[in-house]
Amino acid sequence: MEPVMHRVRQRVFHRLHRALILPKRNHSGCAEKADVPPSTHSRRIKPTLLVSRLYQPSNLRDVGQDSRLPGEMTCKSQRLMQQAGLIHPSNPGCYYYLPATVRSMEKLVRVIDQEMHGIGGQKLDMPSLCSADLWKTSERWDLMGKELFRLKDRHGADYCLGPTHEEAVTTLVAHQATLSYKQLPLLLYQITRKFRDEPKPKFGLLRGREFYMKDMYSFDVSEEAAYETYESVCRAYTRLFARLGLRCVQVQADTGNIGGKLSHEFQLPADIGEDRLLVCGNCSFSANVETLTSDRTDCPQCKTGTLVESKGIEVGHTFYLGKKYSHIFNATFSNAQNKQSIAEMGCFGLGVTRILAAAIEVMSTEEGIRWPGLIAPYQVCVLPPKKGSKVDEAAVLAEELVHTLGETLPGLRGEVVLDDRTQMTVGKRLKDASRLGYPYVIVVGQGALEETPRFEVICQQKGETMFLSKDGLLDLLGRVETV
Ligand code: ATP
Ligand code: MG
Repeated sequence: MEPVMHRVRQRVFHRLHRALILPKRNHSGCAEKADVPPSTHSRRIKPTLLVSRLYQPSNLRDVGQDSRLPGEMTCKSQRLMQQAGLIHPSNPGCYYYLPATVRSMEKLVRVIDQEMHGIGGQKLDMPSLCSADLWKTSERWDLMGKELFRLKDRHGADYCLGPTHEEAVTTLVAHQATLSYKQLPLLLYQITRKFRDEPKPKFGLLRGREFYMKDMYSFDVSEEAAYETYESVCRAYTRLFARLGLRCVQVQADTGNIGGKLSHEFQLPADIGEDRLLVCGNCSFSANVETLTSDRTDCPQCKTGTLVESKGIEVGHTFYLGKKYSHIFNATFSNAQNKQSIAEMGCFGLGVTRILAAAIEVMSTEEGIRWPGLIAPYQVCVLPPKKGSKVDEAAVLAEELVHTLGETLPGLRGEVVLDDRTQMTVGKRLKDASRLGYPYVIVVGQGALEETPRFEVICQQKGETMFLSKDGLLDLLGRVETV
């Protein structure tokens, strides 16, 4: 490496390293900037996540056409996410996902991966730049109309930015020369950005023009087998929403232009939802109004129950496709008689960024975000006292606590932040913590200095406050599920 660049890099590295390690303490017990080269003290001390260093700006100036003043926010999740520095608008229907959002998304992706692997799913990643030829073959190049983002390459060839990938995945499987019935069901999925030129992008991440979707495609030997696969994916979706603590209704749905015979939507009941659902009070029947021929109030399944209407946010959609795409693209496998047979398909979408915003929409209060615990960006925020206050000396105990938590509870490694903005009152920082919705906030104050130290613990999801000893605290936090 070139020597000057090497020195510069080393300096940058040291500076970054210093910024991340625990600040040195001066004689009064207050934190001060570390000015000693890292080699002298960094080996012992693990890095601490300091709130003052997290990039979570709540004071960004408007930059894009879609940015609105706080008073003009269109829904709760958008307002809370923008105000808390989780997202920032760029152009209509497109957002910067800021670091805390990315942490939460990565966790959500891990939970989705676990559930998809649990039913035999295999993850792949397909190009977003899709050739028009494929879309013309399926006739969706015209059918999709203005929703498709279209572009040309330097040779004049037509492309689109993938809004979904039935064509791409089916042609991939069709290219496999020898696919045996013994390899089916085959479940391929990806979690990637999707592009749709929505007529009215709105509600923040709920309806974007560029968003993350998990899309899974199944290939089976028979209609019966495809139905089994369909059921197992629906069960995985139900489990996923249960793990997130979200009430989700599976409703009978329209198949839209994806095509196919059977379809369900997974809906989170919410007032701002754009779908109208009818749920029977008597049996398991539930449907999207779109699927019913008339505005009926009696239940078509049990005949006796009344249908109650509510609004919902569509967070997932499952389709049984049959041979629609496999026939067009000739996706075949060799059957038990060693003959080529056309695969039965299903496709299964989950709106990853929409789930994130929808969860915030249904769980939060007007003042602050409440996350599904599993996917909160950070689990714990520790608040030391205000600098110069009577209990100032408890600050060192707060730092110790952060390290003890990280060392004794492996599940919480990287999950505990220290709100080191000790120039601010505890009340002000508590307000911020409530707005950001860390599941656990620990106030280290007077109680921590007593002979048997006690910590004030605020469980934000339940809205409960407790006073716990260190052991009690470790016991409580040791039970926190992380992913
Ligand atoms: P909608 O009816 O809300 O426009 P859709 O039926 O067109 O959605 P699907 O093709 O079923 O959407 O896509 C699968 C999933 O992707 C949806 O269930 C939803 O969770 C998510 N999704 C679809 N469109 C968007 C969007 N514009 N922004 C964010 N997520 C989306
Ligand atoms: Mg849909």
